[in-house]
Amino acid sequence: MVDAKYLNHKLECPYCETIRLRIPEDVDPGTPISCEDCGQFLGIWDELLTDLEKQGGTDGVFRLDKGRIRKIG
Ligand SMILES: [Zn+2]
Repeated sequence: MVDAKYLNHKLECPYCETIRLRIPEDVDPGTPISCEDCGQFLGIWDELLTDLEKQGGTDGVFRLDKGRIRKIG
């Protein structure tokens, strides 16, 4: 078991501390993902998705909505 932690890295941009990733509609596991706000490279989609799923997936506090991950609430 992996400790349940909030998404304090990878999915949250460490540069501007937002969680707005730029995810193309035709995203595949090898697609590089950047922060929508500042454009910093955050990781490849496969890494980010794996991290998201470990921490509750899209039914948790985060939701994948039209190519963007949004924090609910
Ligand atoms: Zn950013």
